[in-house]
Amino acid sequence: MTLRLASISIDLDETPRYTAIHGLEQPSGPAAHAIYDAAVPRLEAWLEEESIPATFFVVGEDLERDENRASVARLHRAGHEIGNHSYHHHYDLTRRAAAEVHEEIERCAAIIEHACGTRPSGFRAPGYTVSDALFSALAVAGVAYDSSVFPCPSYYAAKALALSAFRAIGRRSESVLDTPAVMRAPRQPYRVGRPYWRRGDGILELPIGVTPLQLPFIGTSLVLGGERVAERLGKQMLGRELINLELHGLDASDAGEDGLDRLAVHRADLKRSAAEKLGAIRAAVRVIREAGYELVTLEEAARKFSDRPSR
Ligand SMILES: [Zn+2]
Repeated sequence: MTLRLASISIDLDETPRYTAIHGLEQPSGPAAHAIYDAAVPRLEAWLEEESIPATFFVVGEDLERDENRASVARLHRAGHEIGNHSYHHHYDLTRRAAAEVHEEIERCAAIIEHACGTRPSGFRAPGYTVSDALFSALAVAGVAYDSSVFPCPSYYAAKALALSAFRAIGRRSESVLDTPAVMRAPRQPYRVGRPYWRRGDGILELPIGVTPLQLPFIGTSLVLGGERVAERLGKQMLGRELINLELHGLDASDAGEDGLDRLAVHRADLKRSAAEKLGAIRAAVRVIREAGYELVTLEEAARKFSDRPSR
């Protein structure tokens, strides 16, 4: 049986994580909570209008704030899935000791359960960086699926270039690079083996979207490309059994309205309004829907793929 599923997942990294990537000072005032307070309501309104159940990957630490826990509980009640994005979002999670990795997964699962009443079933690694040890820890924690593998050469090259440019000008980014072998990973759902970019009988992996021309099918490409490019990229993804579109809260941010002008200096995506960016994302989703794809949470997609033998 061929599946035709599409999932939208949104990583709710709060603004201090972006300033950390760019090596900037921590934001203060409303800018420090701009993702939960401003971007989430915009995403919620859009998803409700189009009746799309989505997956929100949340950082445990962000749920220490009462308002954020309330937001996540509201998303969960509305039928969205809340996934585990680790407790502290350490970009170098895979370089930490096994006990700490375990703690990062468990603490985030616990605070999500506290907020929503349900333990999360899915995981996304900070900065998409995974390792065999991390997959072992996920298995021990009883995680049903992971969605972190991003086998995209242009993303990998851009990240490597940015990190070396940072070092050259003496700025420090907290981001770290995965092994280039990740690019050999399957583009479609698979059970991870050892190493994790090969098929095996481990945890179900739902890789993040890469087009047949090896372009990243993620929010950043859509919002920077605009509606026409977003439509074209959406068309290139048709035929996949799972179209896994990964967004960030920032894809629904508005630098002017949300007080993110200082971050906007360093990010082209923040030079577009929230309305423009959501317009481009909607255009890609429209193409996918019109081709007969069913929009489901990643948890639901994982359930459907789990019912089938691995190939
Ligand atoms: Zn993240």
